[in-house]
Amino acid sequence: MSNKALDAAERLCRSRGLALTPVRKRVLELLLEANAPVKAYDLLAALRPGANAQPPTIYRALDFLTRAGLVHRVEALNAYTACLHAGGRGAAELYVCETCGLVEERHRKGVLPEGPGGFQVSRSVIEHYGRCAACASPAAKA
Ligand SMILES: [Zn+2]
Ligand SMILES: [Zn+2]
Repeated sequence: MSNKALDAAERLCRSRGLALTPVRKRVLELLLEANAPVKAYDLLAALRPGANAQPPTIYRALDFLTRAGLVHRVEALNAYTACLHAGGRGAAELYVCETCGLVEERHRKGVLPEGPGGFQVSRSVIEHYGRCAACASPAAKA
């Protein structure tokens, strides 16, 4: 379990005056444990044993975590992945393997695109599609 990442997330939220409530923290923990993109309904199923987790709760938690930069939504997979850069502001680039579903992230800290006419970009996610190194290697085809 990634306690270090959770601790970092807690510190980050505290420093920004954001509340990492138990359900938000649990969702982040599940995503960190998964180490791969997870769909909202799978998160919901994982939370159910603790009860009190209704769909709106999970979507609100995911929205919070996404806005805080702790989680990225992977549009291509309609899933969520924990950001291992602890809410570092900047542009995230997600490399999505269309063969095995692996998502690798490159996070450009502090580098944000400039918007038109004074538009201030606060977070940015770019998705690239292709094949991961393992799927692209000749051995994978054998
Ligand atoms: Zn990230
Ligand atoms: Zn792959």
